[in-house]
Formats: sequence, structure tokens, C-alpha cells
Amino acid sequence: MRITALAGGVGGARFIRGLLAHLESRPDLAGSRVTVIGNTGDDITLFGLRVCPDLDTLLYTLGGAVSDTQGWGRADETHRVQGELAAYGVEPQWFALGDLDLGAHIARSQWLGQGLSLSEVTGRLAARWGLPERGVTLLPMTDTPVETHVVVDEGDGPRAVHFQEWWVRMQAKVPASRFVAVGMDRAAAAPGVLDAIRQADVVLLPPSNPVVSIGVILGVPGVRDALRGTPAPVVGVSPLISGAPVRGHADACLQAIGLDSTTAAVAGLYEDFLDGWLVAPGDEGSVSRRGLAVESRPLLMTDVAAAADIAGAALDLAERLRPA
Ligand code: GDP
Ligand code: CA
Repeated sequence: MRITALAGGVGGARFIRGLLAHLESRPDLAGSRVTVIGNTGDDITLFGLRVCPDLDTLLYTLGGAVSDTQGWGRADETHRVQGELAAYGVEPQWFALGDLDLGAHIARSQWLGQGLSLSEVTGRLAARWGLPERGVTLLPMTDTPVETHVVVDEGDGPRAVHFQEWWVRMQAKVPASRFVAVGMDRAAAAPGVLDAIRQADVVLLPPSNPVVSIGVILGVPGVRDALRGTPAPVVGVSPLISGAPVRGHADACLQAIGLDSTTAAVAGLYEDFLDGWLVAPGDEGSVSRRGLAVESRPLLMTDVAAAADIAGAALDLAERLRPA
């Protein structure tokens, strides 16, 4: 089976890790291929290094090296380099960069500087983490640098800041009025992205942030059309349980684009291509649209086994929706 998924960072990575565990328990699906299309709108250049937080969260999680307590970054991390940068007074200090993590950013920046595309660089990093052996291809949504900026107003008039500054430094507490994917007008989908959607047997939307993760990927030229046109069923998992995000600030993101923080509002963002939607028990009543198959089940990815059950349920629903 060819499975294609769109993914942000922690929510996406935990879901894909569960999906791989589920596939390993299904001899009938042996040899399946999973293509993950990762969000690069969170990318930022810090200290001259290109940092791709969502791609790295996917790499570390699928490679078994993630800090499970944080959900992102490396396990057993140290911050000696950052301590030195602080001693020199180099800004910014609000973005945590561990020593092991810096290894990835230095490697990426070196290869990008030598002229490799972000896709090629991501392929090299993925090889180190054993993704090909697990049947996984990780593709950035685009090779063109795209950065999500957020229009905020701290009382002195509107201004745009990088998504990371709003998310990490401001903790999404300063009200946002708009998200702008800077660079998207010149961006093209990375090689393989559109074909992975068009040629999939199943397309999955993990419970990633609907606005700044999945929403940004949907803005890449051609992606939305590919999702509308693919013969594969598209099945999503709600990132909201009883209207609240499990972690992060998806509610603040939905509010910024004028939507309520409900699983129905999230499904509405995918209305033109979504075939199946997994929601938490109690949330099913709120979502109803002709042609959308809604199923409820516990959606907390408390551990790999729980995430595997959720991924298995998404796959089952997709298989039932597949054209014969
Ligand atoms: P980020 O880039 O690290 O913010 O990660 P994603 O965009 O991939 O995922 C963030 C979203 O995942 C948030 O909106 C959370 O509500 C959702 N999420 C995180 N953990 C869980 C979980 O256990 N269950 C569900 N259903 N959603 C989750
Ligand atoms: Ca992210």
C-alpha cells in the first residue's frame, strides 16, 4: 500500500511513528511505502544556520532519537554551545538549540550552501536516521524557502514577526490577526510531492496543526488540487479534543483566522477533499457533512501503542472508503 501523509512536527511525527508500528503488526500490509510531506513554513535561519523544526521532529521521532518528554529535539541533549552564544550576547536566546540538534543544522546548512536542494539534504539526513529501511520517504513540501510570518499587535500597531517568535517567544499569547506564508508566491511543490498525493492508495492527515502545519502545506501550489483530484480516500485525525488542542496553540491559530476552536471548524478547512474524519468521543455530533464519514474513538497519543491504534483506525476507515 502506498500511504501519503501531510505532517507538521510533534502531532504529525507521533502519528507517523504510530502508523509505522501499526504497519509492522499487519503482515497483509508488508512492503507498504509511506511518503511524508513535511511542513517547512516553520523554518528559520538562526546564527547563519538553516533550522527546519518540523522536518527535524519527524526525523528524530522516526529515528528513535527524539526527546519523548518534549516531543521535539534530541533525547539526552546538552546546551553548551547555546551557553557560549549567550555569554557572547548573541541573539536570539529564546529559541532552544541543543548541541546534538546543532549537528543537523550545521550539516543541512553546509549541504544547502554546496547547492543541494532541501529535498536532497532531507534525504541525506533521513538516511542517517534509517527512514528508507523503514519504508519511509520524507519530503519537504517545497524546496523554496517559505516562512510563516504572523501579524501581531502588542499595542503599538500591527507588525509581522516570524512564526517562531510568536509561537516560542510570545507563547502565542499576543493576539494574531493574520498568517502570511512569505515566499509561497514563488514556491513550487518539491519533487515527488504532487505525485505522492496523486498516486497514493490512501492519504492521511495526522492531527497536526490545521492552520500553521497542514494549512501551510495546503498553500503550496498544486497540493490542494492534487488532494481534490486523487482517487485515494483522504482521512484525517482531529487535533482537537472537546475543542481544545492536546498541546500547542491551535486554538489561537484558529481564532486568528476567524474560526471557532472546534473539530467541525477544522474539518471545514479540509472540506473540499476530506472523505473520512476521526474525532474524539463526544465530538462526533458537531461534524456533519454529506459524504464525510465521521468516526469517533479515543484520540490521545499517550504512547506508541495508542498512536498505532489511532493510525490503524484511520487506515481502516480509508480502506472502507476506497473505491473498489
Ligand atoms: P508542531 O509542528 O510541533 O506544532 O506539531 P503538529 O502541527 O504536527 O501537531 C500539533 C497538533 O497536534 C496540535 O494542534 C495538537 O492538538 C495535536 N496533538 C498533539 N498530540 C495529540 C494527541 O495525542 N492527539 C491528538 N488528537 N492531537 C494531538
Ligand atoms: Ca511546527
